[in-house]
Amino acid sequence: MNPCVIVGGGFAGMVAARRLQQIGVRATVLEKGDVDGGLGNAVISGGLLHIAWEPPDSPADVKRERLLAETSGEIDDELAGALASQSGNIIPWLQAEGVEMRAKTEEPATRWTLWPFRVGTGRRLLPDLGPSKAMQRLYERFREWRGDLRMGAAAHSLHRLSGGWQVGFQTEAGEASLEAGTVLFADGGFQANQEMLSRYVGPNAGLCLLRASTTGTGDGLRMLLENGAEAVGLGRVYGHLVSINALESDELWPFPHLDELCMVGVVVTRHGDRVPVDTSAVGLVTRMARSEDPRGFAVVFDEEIWNGEPGRGKLGLPAPNPELMRRGAHLVSSDTISGLAQRLACKPDRLARAIAAHNTVRGACPVSRPPFHAARVIPGITFTMGGAKIGPDAAVRAPGGRAIPGLFAAGSTAGGIQGGPNGGYVGGLATAATFGYIAAESIAAYVQSAAKSARSRASPGQPDGG
Ligand SMILES: Cc1cc2nc3c(=O)[nH]c(=O)nc-3n(C[C@H](O)[C@H](O)[C@H](O)COP(=O)(O)OP(=O)(O)OC[C@H]3O[C@@H](n4cnc5c(N)ncnc54)[C@H](O)[C@@H]3O)c2cc1C
Repeated sequence: MNPCVIVGGGFAGMVAARRLQQIGVRATVLEKGDVDGGLGNAVISGGLLHIAWEPPDSPADVKRERLLAETSGEIDDELAGALASQSGNIIPWLQAEGVEMRAKTEEPATRWTLWPFRVGTGRRLLPDLGPSKAMQRLYERFREWRGDLRMGAAAHSLHRLSGGWQVGFQTEAGEASLEAGTVLFADGGFQANQEMLSRYVGPNAGLCLLRASTTGTGDGLRMLLENGAEAVGLGRVYGHLVSINALESDELWPFPHLDELCMVGVVVTRHGDRVPVDTSAVGLVTRMARSEDPRGFAVVFDEEIWNGEPGRGKLGLPAPNPELMRRGAHLVSSDTISGLAQRLACKPDRLARAIAAHNTVRGACPVSRPPFHAARVIPGITFTMGGAKIGPDAAVRAPGGRAIPGLFAAGSTAGGIQGGPNGGYVGGLATAATFGYIAAESIAAYVQSAAKSARSRASPGQPDGG
């Protein structure tokens, strides 16, 4: 029986795989993609490593506080503690692996960004840029140390055996399976699975834009739930608000996003009714994803917001002008609100009411200076926040809190880390790497203790280690 099988050769999976090699535990990685680096979110990410917008090498208590604040206390307390203390290992460890990072801006949160910085559209693979290079490097190192990496291997089933697990997977050559004492699920969430989005996020959540790679089909979560795992936080997603035209054009995602416009302008439904914005843009993505009409929203704003000074939004970002139109997005304008309503095909009195209500909100940016503009908006899902419940050791938990022997989860397969009513995004890459690292340490301890028990069963009465 193999000591460990890792499902998913993405960021969490490969950090775990490499760390296991360093500690002396043999692992086999099953990666669904057939490209070195995998085909998950890591390779198309922006490459920014942060823990709730703090650099991972900040003091643990600062990170812990930020984790609690960002998730409004929804993060599992023990997970916050583990993440805050263990994430300090990640940057020096990645550097020692030969992964290059540089500061992208003067903002501390961007201090550790995979180098060269990724720019580019949609799912296009850009092998010479930081995120792909980092993943290729981890693959290279794993192979150098004679790691067993199965490419084009999609895991689909998990069965309990005596003393371990059987993982079934599909390759081009056909069906295969591996037996292992431990299995780490690191397959990256269920954002690309419309059926699971409908079931867990909202009946029409499958209509959102997939602002992510297509590999996150929730196979790991499904297998874990079938084997008694508890799920946590499944209803929330991380993402951004983008032009509806991103559904047809990769030029319009991952950037420019319309978060800032939605935060300062008036978000309306297809009928022109106002959607109160009392959460962050990420929180709004979840709310829209859960609505009955995720493709029906628009954001209305005025000339001041569109052509005025940057810095009126929370992050101080400029409105995406002229980038939005340059990339072919829908934008309508009119000197009057009724003219704008006509262009949006909604009732003028409803739109006028929505704008008037917005303008009475204390502290809101008034939408009053013509011409008025509107862009149709869709929630774009980058990853699902919920997943299998884990403990601070990355071991998967059953309802009641008992660890399921031999099962571990990290990265977007695991829940309880992101979330909260205001969006609560605490970073994807650094959290995946940290729990991948923690999982490796826990798996090594588990494998060692299983071997010790097997030895004492084989020779009862013998002092161990003699
Ligand atoms: C456009 C974009 C920008 C982002 N920018 C940032 C950023 O700047 N900073 C940040 O912190 N986060 C960012 N993220 C999020 C970040 O990429 C993810 O949070 C992170 O990659 C999660 O790591 P993971 O290992 O869980 O999943 P992934 O990196 O997605 O890896 C999962 C792997 O599992 C494989 N897999 C899936 N199913 C199976 C199966 N059944 N069998 C075998 N293998 C399987 C996939 O092919 C993939 O290689 C971004 C994401 C996107 C899409």
